Amino acid sequence: MHEHYHDVVDLDPFGTPVPFADAAVRSGREYLCVTATDTAPLCGAHFESGVRSYGAVPRNTEFHAEMGLRVLLSALVRTAARYDVAARPVLSHVSSHYVRTYLRLESGARAADRRIEDLGYLDHCQHCLWRDHEATLVADPVDDCPDCGRSTWTAGPIWLGPAHDAGFVREVAAAIPDGFGTAEKSRDLLETVADELHEPTHYDQHRLYERWNEPATAMDEFLAALRAAGFDASRSHYGGTTFKTDAGVAAIREAVD
Ligand SMILES: [Zn+2]
Repeated sequence: MHEHYHDVVDLDPFGTPVPFADAAVRSGREYLCVTATDTAPLCGAHFESGVRSYGAVPRNTEFHAEMGLRVLLSALVRTAARYDVAARPVLSHVSSHYVRTYLRLESGARAADRRIEDLGYLDHCQHCLWRDHEATLVADPVDDCPDCGRSTWTAGPIWLGPAHDAGFVREVAAAIPDGFGTAEKSRDLLETVADELHEPTHYDQHRLYERWNEPATAMDEFLAALRAAGFDASRSHYGGTTFKTDAGVAAIREAVD
């Protein structure tokens, strides 16, 4: 990869792709595809290893799979930016213990600057599941959770921008040959990803109801209540009880009560 250009570079190493990332962004002309299987460092379960490999602070939140994806995207976007290359995620998913992303590459310092603008920090309360994020290079964490007053965690710099491009994802879904053994499963995954909101975190409906000491309601009904209250809401591919919304945790409670 240090010696030749390629239209598409696909990194699928054992463990972290970081040792190959510099060569890959220099070699790739159109797309860079990356798999990472070191999900424990990425999501903050192996904290020091995650900090070392990815140059970011990961936090083991209840949306750990997405935390891992956004820590990986942050590292890849920053690696590309070092070579004046803008890396834009067009499809990303976390499936069976690996993280997978496809990035569209574009040369140019200004384009790379715009990608950097989508990096930032995330505050999270593991007690009431409140969270907030800010796209910034200078972390400004909250002191305590504004909802419950307890201490919070800060993660970053993580990727806060869109992790997929719905048009691209639908084109991929349409191009899957029927003969593929995983065709149906892949199309289901892509359909869910294409419809996902671009919020940088997701909620697990069951975790919320556990906090509220109530039995969970049906997912479709739950999402309909959020939409009826004026919020955007979508399922997410991170699990059957996961969803994304632009409502905060207190507003969710009010909308579905
Ligand atoms: Zn809280």
